[in-house]
Amino acid sequence: MYKQNKIRYTPLWTAFGPSISRFFSADPEPVSPAEQKPIPLRLRRGIRMIREVFKLLTIKDYCKAESLAQAYELNQKRSNRVMGGMLWLRTSRGAVSTIIDLSGLDLNRIREGSGEFSIGCMTTLRELEIHPGLHAYTEGALRESLKHIVGVQFRNLATVGGSLFGRYGFSDVLTLFLALDSYVELYRGGVVPLEEFSRMKADNDILVRLIVKKHPCHTVYLSHRNTKTDFPTLTCAVSEQEGRCRTVIGARPGRAIVLPESSAVLADGINEESARAYAEKIRHLTPTGSNMRGSAAYRSHLTEVLTRRAVLALGGNTLKEKALGGKTR
Ligand SMILES: Cc1cc2nc3c(=O)[nH]c(=O)nc-3n(C[C@H](O)[C@H](O)[C@H](O)COP(=O)(O)OP(=O)(O)OC[C@H]3O[C@@H](n4cnc5c(N)ncnc54)[C@H](O)[C@@H]3O)c2cc1C
Repeated sequence: MYKQNKIRYTPLWTAFGPSISRFFSADPEPVSPAEQKPIPLRLRRGIRMIREVFKLLTIKDYCKAESLAQAYELNQKRSNRVMGGMLWLRTSRGAVSTIIDLSGLDLNRIREGSGEFSIGCMTTLRELEIHPGLHAYTEGALRESLKHIVGVQFRNLATVGGSLFGRYGFSDVLTLFLALDSYVELYRGGVVPLEEFSRMKADNDILVRLIVKKHPCHTVYLSHRNTKTDFPTLTCAVSEQEGRCRTVIGARPGRAIVLPESSAVLADGINEESARAYAEKIRHLTPTGSNMRGSAAYRSHLTEVLTRRAVLALGGNTLKEKALGGKTR
């Protein structure tokens, strides 16, 4: 029986979710739903904030993998996870049975050979940023793509594996490496071009290393953020190799995409006019969407502006090269 003639608020604990609500629900004097008043807005906001503060990831077991085979086997269980720097993972809710640590597998190095860079998945973003070989090869573009990601302490923890495996739409890292001739080595899947990997769905494989093939090329990276260290509103990387331009646009807000080759407009050289025409083409080819950081129209505008600036910067490099009488490497 419902108790009559008494104003009652919806029980507060219902806002904390069904399990807590069930725990408290043994109300000796239940009130009919019609009589209950909704919880005031300010109170609901306060409760939501408390829930945000207490959202936690719980981990039952920790395993420092002794081999990739062991890590792969453990990772086949749905409730287990591989850990990189744990920066993204720790923002998620839920329960992990076993967290798999790859830090004992010598995967935190950058090896530079004559034909390629081999970057272990546990290499941190900071190590990428300060590597002299990568800095020279990308003409500063890699450093430019990383320097806006939160701060140095953060980049000292975030890993290459965690940054690429998530294939995050906002990723500066994915955008930059897509503009280069890059591949990922997966434990089960073998070596896959990064472009193909970026389109694949996340599975239970392990990203072992990133491979960047060396070619004589120029690269420029630009991004736009509403405020410093925020997620980017748009990212843009352009690389030029033997007169052919490869353009990648990310944070559209979807995953970064490589635009179809359309460098014919640049065939007669890079100048204000040809860069504008090229950027306009890229704008039409790039699908954009809206979110809290910007509308689709704003992103399309940014696509054109950043592409034009990046192509003009490439033009500067090419002119420098011509003035030096040939290739600079
Ligand atoms: C507040 C915040 C702001 C950020 N801002 C930016 C930004 O502006 N630009 C940008 O590009 N990025 C940004 N990031 C992303 C960040 O740079 C990292 O990419 C992200 O934190 C993941 O790296 P991690 O090493 O911490 O991975 P983790 O959080 O440890 O792992 C992420 C995911 O990848 C999986 N994983 C990790 N390593 C492997 C592996 N070797 N094989 C298979 N799976 C693996 C994990 O299981 C997990 O699912 C931001 C992240 C945060 C939390």
